[in-house]
Amino acid sequence: MPRPRVYATPAIVLRQRKLGEADKIVTLYTANRGKLDAVAKGVRRSRSKLAGHVEPLSHANFQLAQGKNLDIVTQAETIEPFAAIRDDLDRLSRALYACELLDRFTEPHQEHFDLYRLLLDTLRRLASREDIDTPVRYFEMSLLDALGYRPELEECVTCRVSLQAVTNYWTAGGGGVVCPNCRRDEASVRPVSVNAVKLLRLLLHASWADVARVSIDPGLAVELERAMLEYVRWVLERDVRSAAFIEAVRRPRLSRARVAPAASAHND
Ligand SMILES: [Zn+2]
Repeated sequence: MPRPRVYATPAIVLRQRKLGEADKIVTLYTANRGKLDAVAKGVRRSRSKLAGHVEPLSHANFQLAQGKNLDIVTQAETIEPFAAIRDDLDRLSRALYACELLDRFTEPHQEHFDLYRLLLDTLRRLASREDIDTPVRYFEMSLLDALGYRPELEECVTCRVSLQAVTNYWTAGGGGVVCPNCRRDEASVRPVSVNAVKLLRLLLHASWADVARVSIDPGLAVELERAMLEYVRWVLERDVRSAAFIEAVRRPRLSRARVAPAASAHND
């Protein structure tokens, strides 16, 4: 079906880059057209009315005109600016990481409304929650699952025997968990605790509402973060730049002293 010359769509701005003297190219993740690049003209001029609506993380209604190569943003009106994320480096780094992952994992013009929804929900969680790690873990796992990269969490990836409730091993290159018998002394294999495997399964199978009720202690949060990042890196076969950004701006973990059980049930 040919695209109309002018069309409107809600979208989230994943990133932007300079174009010429006054313009930018914005990468949008749209509700019904997947990811696309578009030119935002004049947005580097101080009087631009468009500029405030095309910043990374903006959730906005866009009107676009079909161009020869790239489409052109003709109007944009912010729906959610996510100021709470922009004002907090910890939240910001996680939100940019989520945007970068979605950008790196997807090809242009492939409609995937679920991924648009997943990013939007993740940004809302990052804007409102005290625990801002769990939404990122849920995002990573949901993205991997939706794109066909779900890790093996039930059986040993080598011998295919059901995993026992003991310390097993995590192998990103092997595609999930390996049992103690099959564990090889490779640098890429790390111990993974019983609780970590349980939580990884929860992230894969449960709804966000159920995941959000679980209180994850700081040690376990670190274990999950490392395991997921290793896995994501392996799938992407290259480094994820904004993961280093998260590390650079991270407050000492204890200062975000986590979430007493009673306070951990807040959903969005
Ligand atoms: Zn095995």
